Amino acid sequence: MNAAPTRTPAVEYAIPEGCPVCAGDLQVKVTTGAGPNGVCVTCGYFAKPVIGVIHHGLHILFKPQAHA
Ligand SMILES: [Zn+2]
Repeated sequence: MNAAPTRTPAVEYAIPEGCPVCAGDLQVKVTTGAGPNGVCVTCGYFAKPVIGVIHHGLHILFKPQAHA
């Protein structure tokens, strides 16, 4: 007997001065389906960061985007 998997709700983080473009506050939303998405509340910069959990918080990296 297998139990149905439970859906984890989205988790949101507010990173003060976390925007790599303008140093504005960054909102990062993490969902099981879409993964992490970050948006700057000041300039509107949007990206999919790579995140990791460290002992005293959250580690957020923005990898360079490939351009065609
Ligand atoms: Zn910004």
